[in-house]
Amino acid sequence: MGKVTGFLEQARLYPLYEAPENRIKHYKEFVHALSDADASKQGARCMDCGTPFCHNGCPINNIIPDFNDLVYNQDWAEALATLSLTNNFPEFTGRICPAPCEAACTLNINNDPVGIKSIEHAIIDKAWAHHWIKPQKAKKKTGRHVAVIGSGPAGLACAQQLARAGHAVTVYEKNSRIGGLLRYGIPDFKLEKWLIDRRMGQMQDEGVTFKTGVAVACGDFPVGVANGASTVVTVDELKQKYHAVVLAIGSETPRDLPVPGRQLNGVYYALEWLIPQNQTVAGDGDNPINAKGKHVVVIGGGDTGSDCVGTANRHGAASVTQFEVMPRPPEFENKGTDSVWPYWPMKMRTSTSHEEGGERDWSVSTQAFVGKNGQVEKLQCVRVEFKGGKMQEIAGSEFDVKADLVLLAMGFVHPAQNVLDAFGVERDARHNASATHVGEHAYRTNIDKVFVAGDVRRGQSLVVWAIKEGRQAAHYVDAALMGESNLPL
Ligand code: FAD
Repeated sequence: MGKVTGFLEQARLYPLYEAPENRIKHYKEFVHALSDADASKQGARCMDCGTPFCHNGCPINNIIPDFNDLVYNQDWAEALATLSLTNNFPEFTGRICPAPCEAACTLNINNDPVGIKSIEHAIIDKAWAHHWIKPQKAKKKTGRHVAVIGSGPAGLACAQQLARAGHAVTVYEKNSRIGGLLRYGIPDFKLEKWLIDRRMGQMQDEGVTFKTGVAVACGDFPVGVANGASTVVTVDELKQKYHAVVLAIGSETPRDLPVPGRQLNGVYYALEWLIPQNQTVAGDGDNPINAKGKHVVVIGGGDTGSDCVGTANRHGAASVTQFEVMPRPPEFENKGTDSVWPYWPMKMRTSTSHEEGGERDWSVSTQAFVGKNGQVEKLQCVRVEFKGGKMQEIAGSEFDVKADLVLLAMGFVHPAQNVLDAFGVERDARHNASATHVGEHAYRTNIDKVFVAGDVRRGQSLVVWAIKEGRQAAHYVDAALMGESNLPL
């Protein structure tokens, strides 16, 4: 498996990125797949550990050592076959996954794990380029009809698996285009949207029907949610028409910061800015909020916050500052094999957007937004520390920061409750849809024939987890409809 001495001879190769000063001039992707030769060298680094921790670190359990070896040996078609066993959309995860597999890689002990994500990216881009990706049409139709509500990665993965099992699948999406947060949250510079359209074409060839601009159960959605819905379908209509319904509606209610001055102009939820920005790039609108020449403050240190940083840099902001309330993660000191336990790749949650400009600061809490004539002008902040699990403000550490535009990127609290209410689906303690996890009832809600998958069930998470949930839910829907299922878990 791999080259026995490969990891000793070849260093980890990082993905190839366009220089920050060039890439901030456009919204296009700036990461390139590795060349065949470089991917092969990277595959050679896989040590064949015996216990492949990477395989378990990956939520969809990609069979990583096998495809690493196949790429090392330049057997690309077989590498694609192996990758496709577990992942419906490697072109998404190969670009935007935080790669927990690499964190789990044994070589990470030296802080230089195999570049698994780059290998995945290389396999799938090559496969599409060579037209190896074909529709996998079901050989036999089951005569069962399934509605999937929501076309994010969970809904898409679920729909594709169910169609391949022979069910007639219809995906309902309230937005005018499919993709969920892949399309409307994540900027094009991380994931260009033609990648989603290309998969949609494959899924249509496999028999999936997409109905866009159709909201299920309810027309009202949380602030900041792209809502191009022109039609509403009721729960009763769905129950009459379909043998099963899968709710994959995401978790779209943003966390607010209810401090004095929150109502001032210039203070927005991140998605109130990122959604129109993605629509603008797609030619579907014109973002009314322009950051050019403005002092931008992003509150929140996760993926959404870094996407705001990258977008603000592309708008030409005068300054970009990102605050995180949590403490700065311990710095990793690279001392070769004597290094402290590695924090890769979650170290400081650094994204490519941070290489493009802006300041970051940790342990900062915002006490108030202050402005004039209804427009925000500054933030009043204070430094905090955590004692006994409780956040405490540090007296005397107060400071002000100039701001014309503030973006709240502090996560999402729960899915749209009104849609779950309309179905009568029970909630867990965090207000996510509740579904038991084990055995034949997995992903099933308390309502007959109604299943849930993705962020709606797990809470705000990652694309790779959404794909996993969609795939697993499909297995359980298939089993419920047919008595048993051959779809992989
Ligand atoms: P979603 O992607 O939210 O899709 C839900 C879909 O359901 C939406 O299209 C919505 O319109 C539709 N819907 C909702 N209600 C209805 C209704 N009543 N009727 C019809 N349709 C409905 N994860 C990563 O792994 N890597 C990243 O780099 C990353 N970056 C992110 C950046 C941002 C800005 C955000 C917000 C999230 C990011 N994430 C990232 C998280 C990731 O996008 C989500 O975890 C993932 O998309 C969840 O998938 P989902 O299918 O469960 O839900």
